[in-house]
Amino acid sequence: MKAWLTFSPKIVSNSIISNLIKNYDIDFNILRADITPEGGKMLIEISGTQQKQAAEFMEKEGIHLNPINKVVKKDEEKCIDCGACISLCPVKAINTTEDWTVEVDDLKCVGCNFCTKSCPTRAIWVTE
Ligand code: SF4
Ligand code: SF4
Repeated sequence: MKAWLTFSPKIVSNSIISNLIKNYDIDFNILRADITPEGGKMLIEISGTQQKQAAEFMEKEGIHLNPINKVVKKDEEKCIDCGACISLCPVKAINTTEDWTVEVDDLKCVGCNFCTKSCPTRAIWVTE
């Protein structure tokens, strides 16, 4: 599961994430984070047998959890492998293969749409 977590100033200094990792059978990856003492947001990916319980724990502790259900798709016939979309992806979901073909990893995509706006042939799009 990928999700944006929002922390209010009231809970930002609590040890919620370390308790989460300690107490649940999950892999927890932080893909982006912008947190200050005034609160902030974190983009995370969690997997494992207890991810549902982990999500419930975070919500109980006051984190607003917004799951991401969007994925990126690419039309191989329209794509000219120009690479314009690659550097715009904040989570490195777009890469080149050894033969310089551009490929997308829909499991990493967070649906931000940065890549879709850069594509000269409209070969890449985000869907639910
Ligand atoms: S939609 Fe955003 S996260 Fe997904 S591949 Fe495009 S730039 Fe990367
Ligand atoms: S910007 Fe469009 S054409 Fe260029 S590599 Fe990305 S998907 Fe392919």
